[in-house]
Amino acid sequence: MSTPPRLRFAPSPTGDLHVGGARTALFNWLYARHNGGQFLLRIEDTDRARSTDESTRAIFDGLNWLGLTWDEEVVYQGANLARHQADALRLLENGSAYRCFCTPAELDERRKEAEARKDAFRYDRRCDRLDPAEVERRVAAGVPHVLRFRVPDGSTEWDDMVHGRIAFPNKDIEDFVILRSDSTPIYNMAVVSDDIAMRITIVMRGDDHISNTPKQILLYSALGSPLPRFAHLPMIHGTDGKKLSKRHGATAVGDYQHLGILPSAMRNFLALLGWSPGGDLEVMMLDELVERFGEDGLLKKAAVFDPKKLEWMNGQHLSILPVEDVAQWVMPALIAAGLATASELAERHDWFILLLELLRVRSRTIDDVVRQARPFLVEEITYDPDATAKQWKDAAHTITLLSETRDRLEALSDWSPEPMEEALRELAESHGITAGKLFQPMRVALTGLAVSPGIFDVLVMLGKERSLARLEAAVASLERGQTD
Ligand code: GLU
Repeated sequence: MSTPPRLRFAPSPTGDLHVGGARTALFNWLYARHNGGQFLLRIEDTDRARSTDESTRAIFDGLNWLGLTWDEEVVYQGANLARHQADALRLLENGSAYRCFCTPAELDERRKEAEARKDAFRYDRRCDRLDPAEVERRVAAGVPHVLRFRVPDGSTEWDDMVHGRIAFPNKDIEDFVILRSDSTPIYNMAVVSDDIAMRITIVMRGDDHISNTPKQILLYSALGSPLPRFAHLPMIHGTDGKKLSKRHGATAVGDYQHLGILPSAMRNFLALLGWSPGGDLEVMMLDELVERFGEDGLLKKAAVFDPKKLEWMNGQHLSILPVEDVAQWVMPALIAAGLATASELAERHDWFILLLELLRVRSRTIDDVVRQARPFLVEEITYDPDATAKQWKDAAHTITLLSETRDRLEALSDWSPEPMEEALRELAESHGITAGKLFQPMRVALTGLAVSPGIFDVLVMLGKERSLARLEAAVASLERGQTD
């Protein structure tokens, strides 16, 4: 059996955890879990000016919310500076790199000259041609310099797990800097040094990194380390075909958390941004994602982030997940909305679970559930003006219907759907109207809303006393409206 793969997610903590980063994290995690490997987290905080603790926290929070746990202690890239430097010096010692004394001003000037000639600027290796004694003299004199990697002739190629064979002619890669004059490593040097130290076997990341890969491969070879496999995941576009950005609305994972999306739906949705299990299968719980996720399903073409599909997916998950799992996400939302306290919900847990069963199949987001739960949790309801305009058009007639409904329901000794239905159908018939014509205005009276669970379920969940009180309040409100 081959050794289990080791993968990592290596975000730079310079902002929120965005959809693209979360997708990359998820794919690495799923691949590791599917293959019995490890998923590691490395915070690439070497850009001191742009990295913040707040972003690091946002990354942890986002990954935790998504349930993407990492297997070993978090690696902070900045803590590995000494090793990055040692690896760069190893390259100098083994002849793969050389010292370059050209100043930024000189390089700038040569760049401008090249541009004026309409040539692409590439470092001309002049410091590689310096006499060794001269190099020694300058080093001894403390002349500032960088270390440059000497790119060999030939071509750098790899079999990408997403794109297949990719080849870069080395002549297109300039002798790139690996260590700056202040002895800090350049990005590619730090990444390769860390990936080697972390024994990463698969580097899976966004395909905006493809152009870094040949440089990284050259570094691996020069350091004498085995190459990992590379997978470059497709970019994520908005529904307009443009690269996903703030213009497309919420792109941070935390935003979706606050918009009432379930982590399981978000995972499922993100999993399909660049991967397909084949066939029409879309709605998958975590176990199924782990079971099916493999490199065969990795897709090349840009993925489309469609918020409507995410909402649909969320609706599916709301309906399918074990109701107690859904409750775990809905309860804090109800409490935050001030509709109930934790102890109230705990006291009426069975009732609450029944209510949730009724509401979740009619909801796409947790916010939808909260909206629909309101009339069942609060004393006073408000009437949706659109609903009253439509269902209480004829006030006098509605008053009669609702008053008689109240009286018939009050007379019931058994507060259950069957006798309710019998009584209300009879009432509708006596007025020569369909049951629907009675249930619609009743629904508004009982919930204030135009949509709700079936009317008998509403009555049962509210209980007799509260149902009768709501019908009376609706009648009173209609009567007030008539005299206003
Ligand atoms: N820190 C890089 C980024 O956030 C990722 C580097 C990598 O995955 O190799 O884009």
